[in-house]
This record gives sequence, C-alpha cells and structure tokens, in this order.
Amino acid sequence: MAELADALRGFVKGEVFNDEWTRKINSIDASHYALTPSIVIDPADENDLQAISSYCYNRGLPITARGAGTGLLGQSLTEGIVIDFTKHMNKILQIENDYVILQPGVVKGVLDKELRKRGKFLPPDPASSNYCTLGGMIANNSSGPHGLAYGSIINFLKGVNVVYSDGTVDSLGENDYGSRYARHLIDLVSDNISLIQNGYPLVNKNSCGYRLDAVINHNNYSPQKVFAASEGTLGLVTSASIKILDIPSHRSLIILVFEDLIAATSSVPRLLKCHPVAIELLDSSLYSSESGRGSSHNECVVFVEFAADRLREVETRLSKCKENLASSCRHVETANDQMSVDKAWAARKGQLNNIMKLTVGSRRPVGLIEDTVVNTNFLPEYVRFLLNLYHANYLNYVIYGHLGDGNLHTRPMMDLESPSELELLQSLADRVFAKVIQQRGTISGEHGDGLARLDFIPKVYGSPIFSLFKKVKRLFDPACLLNPGKKIPVSALMNDGI
Ligand SMILES: Cc1cc2nc3c(=O)[nH]c(=O)nc-3n(C[C@H](O)[C@H](O)[C@H](O)COP(=O)(O)OP(=O)(O)OC[C@H]3O[C@@H](n4cnc5c(N)ncnc54)[C@H](O)[C@@H]3O)c2cc1C
Repeated sequence: MAELADALRGFVKGEVFNDEWTRKINSIDASHYALTPSIVIDPADENDLQAISSYCYNRGLPITARGAGTGLLGQSLTEGIVIDFTKHMNKILQIENDYVILQPGVVKGVLDKELRKRGKFLPPDPASSNYCTLGGMIANNSSGPHGLAYGSIINFLKGVNVVYSDGTVDSLGENDYGSRYARHLIDLVSDNISLIQNGYPLVNKNSCGYRLDAVINHNNYSPQKVFAASEGTLGLVTSASIKILDIPSHRSLIILVFEDLIAATSSVPRLLKCHPVAIELLDSSLYSSESGRGSSHNECVVFVEFAADRLREVETRLSKCKENLASSCRHVETANDQMSVDKAWAARKGQLNNIMKLTVGSRRPVGLIEDTVVNTNFLPEYVRFLLNLYHANYLNYVIYGHLGDGNLHTRPMMDLESPSELELLQSLADRVFAKVIQQRGTISGEHGDGLARLDFIPKVYGSPIFSLFKKVKRLFDPACLLNPGKKIPVSALMNDGI
C-alpha cells in the first residue's frame, strides 16, 4: 500500500494518507461495522478527483466516498480507497432566491446558518445536521422531522455534477438529456414504468434500493434523482443544485402526553387532519419488556408542529388539534415563541445520542429494524406486533421517530457479541421486515441500506425490480468500482458477468 500511496502522491493535488491513525478513524461510522480502508484521500477539487478515479479505474481499485461518517448502516466503510470530501470540497458556491449550488462536503448546519441569514431554509433536517454533509445526505436520501410537510432531500435535488468511476465528468438535471447516461436511464425507467409504479413501497419517504420511481414523474424527467439514496455506488457527486424555501413566518408547537404507544400511534390520523409540518414521537429512554407486558404503562410524548406565513392559520390549526386530541391525552402543552419551540426541538435532536449512551459493554441499542415506514393507519397494529416480539424475547428497547410519516426508529438492546443474540436479531429482522413488506412499507425511510440491510433489498422490491437495479449499477459503474457491496451484492453482479 505504501507504493500505491506514493504513486498517488505523485499526481494528487490534495492529501493522500496511508498511516495507521487516519485509516483507523475512517474504519468506522455510526454503525456497528468496522472496515479499515487501504488509503484515504482528500481531493483538492474536481480535476483531482478525475485524475484519482481514472488512475484507480485503470488498476481496478475500488473507491468509496465519505462525508462526515455519520451513516448508521456502514455506508461509507470499505477496505478500498476512501475519498473524503470534507476537507477541500466543502464550499457553498452560489445562493439564489430558490436554490443553492454547493460542494458535497458542506456541513448541513453550516448551510442552515447561511440560509437563515437570508430567510431561507432547506427542510430535510437530520438530527445529525451539525456534522453531516450534503453529499452524505444526498447519497442516503436523508430527511428528518419536517419530512412530513416537505419530503426528503430527493424532493429538493435539482441537479448534480458527478465524476464516474472511469474519471469522466457528467451533469444530470431536470429534463436534461445531455448527460452520458440520462437517456439510457430514462428509457430503462420508461420501458418498465408500470412495474415501477406498482412495485414500489407505498410510503412518503424511502431510502431503500435505487429510487427509480422518482426518475419519471408526470412526463417530467429527473435523472439526477437516481443519485439520491444511491450511497455513492453510481458516481461521485462533485456539486449539487438544491431547491430552497422561505422560512415560514410563524411556528408553534403542541406537546401531547399519551398513556402509551398505542394511544399515541392511534392518534396519528386525527393529528394529520390538522395539517401539521411535523409529528414526532419521543422515546422514554428505555422501555422495559417487563413494564410493558400485557398493557404498556409507558407514557409517551408527541411533538406536533404547525408552521405558516399567516399567524391566524397556525393558531387555527393548533386549536383544532387541541380540541381533537385533548380527551385522548394525559397532558397538553403549547409553545408559541421561537425560543421555546427551538428548545423543544433541541431535546428531540439529541435523542439518538442519548440512546447510544444506553450502551453497556457489548449490549447496545442495535440498529437494523430502526428505520421502517408503514402506512400511518397501520401504525397501532404494527407497534403491537413489535411490542409482542420484544416482550416474547425479553428485550428492552427504545421507540421514537417520525410518527406523521409512519417512520419509526426502534432499537432493541442486544449483545452483538453473543451468537444467540445475533441469531435472534436476524430472526427479528426477518419477521419485522416481512410484516412491513406485506403492508407495502419500506425497511428504510431515511437512513439507507449500507451493509446492514443489503440482503433485504431484493425482498422489498422482488426480483424484476431488483434486476433493474443491477442494470442501473451496470450502466453507471460497469466495472463495479464505486462503493462495491452497497445496494447490490458484488456476487449478484458477478453472476451476471461483471
Ligand atoms: C446521532 C445521529 C442522528 C441521525 N439522525 C438522522 C435523521 O434525523 N435523519 C436522517 O435522515 N439521518 C440521520 N442520521 C444518519 C446520517 O447522519 C445521515 O444519513 C447523513 O446524511 C449522513 O451524512 P454523512 O456526511 O455523515 O455521510 P457518510 O456517512 O460519510 O456517507 C453516507 C453515504 O454517502 C456517500 N457519499 C458521501 N459523499 C458523497 C459524494 N460526494 N458522492 C457520492 N456519494 C457520497 C458515502 O459513500 C456513503 O454511502 C443520523 C445519524 C446519527 C449518528
């Protein structure tokens, strides 16, 4: 590897690292996996990236993009070469009235601050926004509490500039056929349109597989959207054009305390009728299977936010919500001033960090079934099903998430060093995912597939659509050098003759 690093240093304008320390810190993300890369490169710019890619292409060396490494499923982990975009390719290039052009290494929180000065915002708001990058958000199709009203990053992605594995550059944008592969992609989708329209999960947010369902919409062609949720497997994004919105003038929050999870989830259809921009379930830190046995005694808290430019509108929605829900709740509180609303959201933002602190030795809150989405009408039955599984296996657990989208983040406390618990985790995942798929839900609403959910992707889509995914991968990355082993198992491509 020292030889390869020296050869790269001969032409790379940025930095090339092959020291133990740099490789070690890039060997983990926010998942349970660890893979040590051979080399880590901080490219200086797009030209640098082209030279690196073309060099690697000629030698069959795999490349994996990395942003802040906050992915929860091992998306940025590899034993190949890591390309870190955070050091040099981290500039906001242009802010216009309704869009922004930026490099992938821009941290979402930095963008938020710049946009706020202009009264603008980019709604997808992951709890990791103080660290995560726009490149990572695009590649995972990230979202957050306000996904309910505004959608995920895919809904905002107007265009991307990319470098392919062979070092060539390309631009993909709305109704633009000029790109190297756009025409092929659009033809592939268009030839299979009814398969795609009938075979995708019926959900508001989805980060599982490739988002071919977003490529053609009412005669509008959006080839750039295939990059959302693609986990760096199709091309390296060097810049993106992203739609932004005006910050609504008024926001208010209502905090509802329910007797238990079933009462909270049953309230969602009534809450949705009040047109909130977010409905968030907070976890009560740790639910015990013992206390939950039979009927659950765990109170739970739901945040409901309303936002609009006219104060009257916000007030009307909020009082309708209070009126509709008061009798079903134990306690109701409202926050109308910006400071109180922000304070409440800060508590929500810290949820996953707090949950991670529940780790004791090798027993930890495990992510695998932590990002399912089901129709909100099915939520109470789904939660009952989950609780029964947890109780039957004497598992403690956390449950929180984006209730308004039916996107529950749940993690059982398990010891991944115990073979029997690993086996149990696999069987929990099989059963939970089967239930979700049966209801036309998705196994990932916003976190992506990474290493952890790779094998489950064909189960969500079935083999005809999964075959389209292989065609897409082969179209954009024929040598399978971009983040191999993500989205499509390398063996599945090998069998098809790569
Ligand atoms: C505490 C915590 C809270 C979180 N909360 C949320 C949440 O509320 N909502 C949510 O959606 N997610 C959440 N996440 C998950 C994660 O933060 C997001 O998916 C985030 O967008 C990942 O960004 P990143 O920069 O860390 O990407 P990384 O983890 O570094 O990479 C993610 C993927 O992006 C690819 N990639 C990165 N840059 C490029 C590029 N330039 N071109 C092509 N591919 C690229 C990588 O190869 C990888 O496949 C949370 C994570 C943590 C740890």
